[in-house]
Amino acid sequence: MCIFVSDQDVMNKKDKHKRIHLSPPHLSQVELELIQEALFQNWVAPAGPQLQAFEQALSDYLHRRSIVALNSGTSALHLALKLLGVEAGDEVICPTLTFVATVNPVLYQQATPVLVDSEPNTWNMCPIQLEKAIQHRIKISKKPKAIIVVHLYGQPAQLTTIQAIAQKYEIPLIEDAAEALGSSYQGQKVGTWGDVGVISFNGNKIITTSAGGALITKEAAQAQKAVFWATQAKEKATHYEHREVGYNYRLSNVLAAIGVGQMEHLEVRVTRRREIFEFYHTHLSKDKVSFQPEIEGTFSNRWLTGILLNILNPKITPETIRLALEAENIESRPLWKPMHLQPLFEGTPYYGEQVAEDLFSRGLCLPSGSSLTEADLNRIVLAIEKVLK
Ligand SMILES: *Cc1c(COP(=O)(O)O)cnc(C)c1O
Repeated sequence: MCIFVSDQDVMNKKDKHKRIHLSPPHLSQVELELIQEALFQNWVAPAGPQLQAFEQALSDYLHRRSIVALNSGTSALHLALKLLGVEAGDEVICPTLTFVATVNPVLYQQATPVLVDSEPNTWNMCPIQLEKAIQHRIKISKKPKAIIVVHLYGQPAQLTTIQAIAQKYEIPLIEDAAEALGSSYQGQKVGTWGDVGVISFNGNKIITTSAGGALITKEAAQAQKAVFWATQAKEKATHYEHREVGYNYRLSNVLAAIGVGQMEHLEVRVTRRREIFEFYHTHLSKDKVSFQPEIEGTFSNRWLTGILLNILNPKITPETIRLALEAENIESRPLWKPMHLQPLFEGTPYYGEQVAEDLFSRGLCLPSGSSLTEADLNRIVLAIEKVLK
């Protein structure tokens, strides 16, 4: 059935040293047929029946009516900030330990990010540092306009605590669930907790449209506004009347066809990523490495398995492991380098201690793609254990 996977199996047998990627796209025959259908119908436009079907599938899955499919998760974050009225000179709280795409849209709006440290329990935004940051910003008359919370590598942040803080200070909450489609918190899907939520369908994410994203809103009017901005902010007039700046952010109908196919596999992809996590958890030396915790009440899609070295010594660092894996043609990556350590964010306000820095210095993301075979996993574990021994 899955032609791409069986091709990989054939390659596996031929080549024990084939490249193992961190998180490659995982497609099947279904997507091929759906793209073909879109092409045959000549729906090669940024709108069409496949786009509607994809939004419907997401809506059914997330139990939310107002979903807007866009050309990237970054675009979705940008429109989320606009929906919440973030403008030049405003401040937006972001976690420091994340991919830069969480924070860049704040800069697009000429607003200032305020960076907050992680907590060791989830690796995500620390609620204590969050409240400290809010209190201090209010004290200096810079009340944040929004909070962006990220569910890193699929692990949900402390949503109820963070939501309670957001409500206490009446600051809207954006969930960057780019990495976390399929994860849930107290049984409710992440991305649907905040005032606005964002998902990504980039090529490396748990399901993909090659490039794409979605915005999850609570109200239909917000979704309509987002579609308006995403399609060049055309007013209702045949001559193209414009009152506002618009963007070209809508997802192409052809790519939405891939998304419709991918949604059919989402649950099995989540199950497989969790199995891969379990494999590493079972087979790597527990005295040497630990894993991103899945705290009570949370369910992680385990998009990427991240490990932490318990003790660093010159011979055993994330970099020595990464290089040993690379020598075996296996890709791995450090955790995201914290934003407050990035030249781009020099001088940006930061609240926290060294939690994110410590995670960054001891952490490594292992290959986690759902198309990994048992043979691949054995190869990876063997290569890591060689360094750890
Ligand atoms: C991938 C990612 C994004 C951006 O998504 P794109 O679709 O690549 O624009 C945003 N935030 C996080 C945390 C991500 O991992």
